[in-house]
Amino acid sequence: MSKNKKPIVAIVGRPNVGKSTLFNALAKQRIAIVKDTPGITRDRIYADVTWLDKAFTLIDTGGIEPDSRDIILSQMREQAQIAIDTADVILFMVDVKQGMVDADAKVADMLRRSHKPVILVVNKVDNFDKYMADTYEFYNLGIGDPHPISASGRLGIGDMLDVLVSYFGDSESGDEEDERTRVAIVGKPNVGKSSLINKLIGENRLIVSEIAGTTRDAVDTPVVYNGKEYIFIDTAGLRRKNKIKEELEHYMIVRTVGAIERSDIVILVIDAVEGVTEQDAKIAGIAHDRGKAVIIAVNKWDAIEKNNKTVNQYTAKIREILSYMPYAEITFISALTGQRLPKLYDLIDVISENHSMRISTGVLNEIMSEAVALQQPPSDKGKRLRLYYITQVGVKPPTFVIFVNDKELMHFSYTRYIENKVREAFGFRGTPLKFLIRERR
Ligand code: GDP
Ligand code: GDP
Repeated sequence: MSKNKKPIVAIVGRPNVGKSTLFNALAKQRIAIVKDTPGITRDRIYADVTWLDKAFTLIDTGGIEPDSRDIILSQMREQAQIAIDTADVILFMVDVKQGMVDADAKVADMLRRSHKPVILVVNKVDNFDKYMADTYEFYNLGIGDPHPISASGRLGIGDMLDVLVSYFGDSESGDEEDERTRVAIVGKPNVGKSSLINKLIGENRLIVSEIAGTTRDAVDTPVVYNGKEYIFIDTAGLRRKNKIKEELEHYMIVRTVGAIERSDIVILVIDAVEGVTEQDAKIAGIAHDRGKAVIIAVNKWDAIEKNNKTVNQYTAKIREILSYMPYAEITFISALTGQRLPKLYDLIDVISENHSMRISTGVLNEIMSEAVALQQPPSDKGKRLRLYYITQVGVKPPTFVIFVNDKELMHFSYTRYIENKVREAFGFRGTPLKFLIRERR
């Protein structure tokens, strides 16, 4: 695991073992990506979790309720594969009430071969005295100690989390940070992701033994371009035949979340011929939500008829649909002809710098006082908003804290105004900015 990335934890297990119950117990807030569609519980694909001082992203690979027994195993294999590809640690959940079943053993084999850390979670141990003996059966899975919990009864979860976080790399240790820019190439099927990634990688592919070995890294390709190292993260393995549409989309979203989570910069590839679709917007929403820098690459630019207005019309349309990410860079490319691909590397460099740019507190406060002088802060019932101080507390994305007298008075629009002033001064092209408002009386 790269030291500077938030770990990804995936839950795998048969339907009804209690995955979503655990997910909901751990998730501070549920993040709805998309509206519910019959047959798919989509509102629980990923969540931020903190245990003690460790933060991680939890992904639930499940979500399809299979209607026939014989597809359960194939779905579990798919889930397990996604977990192997994307997660740093896998929670494999079984059900003490049902005992060990054949599908559990098959998935356990798969997980063992992946050499990923796997924690065997035995759920529904509602009474530790009574059912503890039954958990020992699961040693037969050959993936280590069973960890008994009751997801609904909130038992054993703390101990299980202690074990879980012990697998995370020690981010406080003096290890040097991974300086390589991590770029996820995402988009719905057939927009040209593979074509783009192949062109970008071309002869620049770097063969490093450190990277080889695990399945997950098979989709992470290190590249050297102009003497700089990049890692391209692919959402490979999405194309599957014989899948119902909703299922395909579910897995696409899960894989995309995984790829985005592991990246700094997201290249969202859209199809010029089709324009921005609802699916594109969903994926853009994930990147935005995760605070990633974003490049929108309008691909197949060779395939449409153009005049001198086309670029502006396209840009306006994208800005309208993806209005929550005005910072996103838009570029028009052709993976087929190679049009503007060398420039894409330059763009990645600029945006990567912006995403981790730090501004000194002194300069920030100058900008804020000028802004306040230019446009008086709002007031309510005779009380006026006062902005005391601004400071940057983080990068990737750049995150600022503004101290004020009363949070209630700090309207969204005034925060946006300050954000615009900061952007006017420093650009920050391609990256979202986060503003936290704190009260200081
Ligand atoms: P998923 O399909 O794996 O996501 O499973 P769910 O979380 O939907 O849970 C399936 C069923 O098991 C639900 O009826 C839950 O209420 C129940 N369940 C979940 N955790 C526990 C538990 O710790 N003990 C018991 N007895 N039931 C549980
Ligand atoms: P993916 O599913 O997103 O990985 O898409 P692919 O890279 O497999 O491309 C899907 C189809 O679009 C293939 O037939 C490609 O040849 C075609 N394609 C990809 N990029 C371009 C492009 O820039 N221009 C044109 N005209 N076709 C492209």
